[in-house]
Amino acid sequence: MNIHEYQAKAVLRDFGAPVSRGIPAFTVEEAVKAAETLGGPLYVVKSQIHAGGRGKGKFKELPEGAKGGVRLARSLDEVRAHAQEMLGNTLVTVQTGPAGKQVGRLYIEDGSDIDKELYLSLLVDRSTSRVAFVVSTEGGMDIEKVAHDTPEKIITFSVDPATGIMPHHGLAVAKAFGLTGDLAKQAVSLTAKLYTAFVAKDMAMLEVNPLIVSTGGELKCLDAKIGFDSNALYRHPDIVALRDETEEDPKEIEASRYDLSYVALDGTIGCMVNGAGLAMATMDIIKLYGEEPANFLDVGGGATKEKVTAAFKIITADPNVKGILVNIFGGIMRCDVIAEGVIAAVTDVGLTVPLVVRLEGTNVELGKTIIRESGLNVISADDLDDAAQKIVKAVRG
Ligand code: GDP
Ligand code: MG
Repeated sequence: MNIHEYQAKAVLRDFGAPVSRGIPAFTVEEAVKAAETLGGPLYVVKSQIHAGGRGKGKFKELPEGAKGGVRLARSLDEVRAHAQEMLGNTLVTVQTGPAGKQVGRLYIEDGSDIDKELYLSLLVDRSTSRVAFVVSTEGGMDIEKVAHDTPEKIITFSVDPATGIMPHHGLAVAKAFGLTGDLAKQAVSLTAKLYTAFVAKDMAMLEVNPLIVSTGGELKCLDAKIGFDSNALYRHPDIVALRDETEEDPKEIEASRYDLSYVALDGTIGCMVNGAGLAMATMDIIKLYGEEPANFLDVGGGATKEKVTAAFKIITADPNVKGILVNIFGGIMRCDVIAEGVIAAVTDVGLTVPLVVRLEGTNVELGKTIIRESGLNVISADDLDDAAQKIVKAVRG
């Protein structure tokens, strides 16, 4: 689960990390009032969407050459003008995709005078099973580009969970940034605070880009992006409360209601599969035969008829879906339950695209009989290869 920048900064502030003063705003009036409270003389008006690259982003509704989603302002009138241009409009950045995201919230912040922009992030490194730091002097820019063009400018190290964060980690960060004296001390302190926050809140990713050195000689988190491990959200009700559903794919929200693992993708073949491994194999084989999956969907081991029906409805609600492949291996899951769920869903929402069903395992004959006798126009397949070829052929007409 992701949260907005202003929420991420509040979390970091709770752990003592240095961030600017700021106030979120949902309307133009609130934005002006927030700026009035902050007092200036420099303000930053920041569009709040779950995507980076806002500064260099473009608003769809504004003319070419208009400013991006992060702007400096020197008066209340400027704050008002920026807020009017941002709120309700659609911001397109390198991370939103061409559709962009509508800006519904702003963050009005005390402006900082910047001396240096640095990059710092923490993430779970699966290869070492540790929390890793990624730091670079090349802050404020597209870090993927830095990693590609000048990989030597990116320094990473991981923290042994048995010892936890130690002063030498902070010193490594300070060294990577080329900081000395008091700024090095600040880096050591910040490193420990960010690590503590990361572990305490079960974060999956924490990115500060840029981390700045202000002209006054202070280290500060000027931007903050946090993603949380969804599997640990049950123990963080305070974080769950920060969820902004308008930022999420409505199909994924619906899927989470039924405890389905669903990820929307860009292709044309909707997939309903049980087990993450089989779901990935199904996506691979669709690609092998030249088409693209419209989603990843794992209905899980103990899916009920209601769950299967919900899954089917979510798949058919995607206008890009030109065909559906149901691929079920009945272990704990029974093939007849799947068959009944598919039929219930088709009866409910109708079927306007070809449907290929491949069933194997427990009660497979019963499942096949139920589908055959339903009178529905279902193409049945014998194995995974056969199923993939049939659905690809069907969507290609
Ligand atoms: P992003 O574009 O979505 O990553 O948004 P950021 O919060 O990183 O802001 C983009 C850029 O705006 C930063 O890299 C800074 O160069 C600039 N910026 C943001 N806040 C301030 C500020 O307080 N003062 C100044 N001078 N520039 C700022
Ligand atoms: Mg940034």
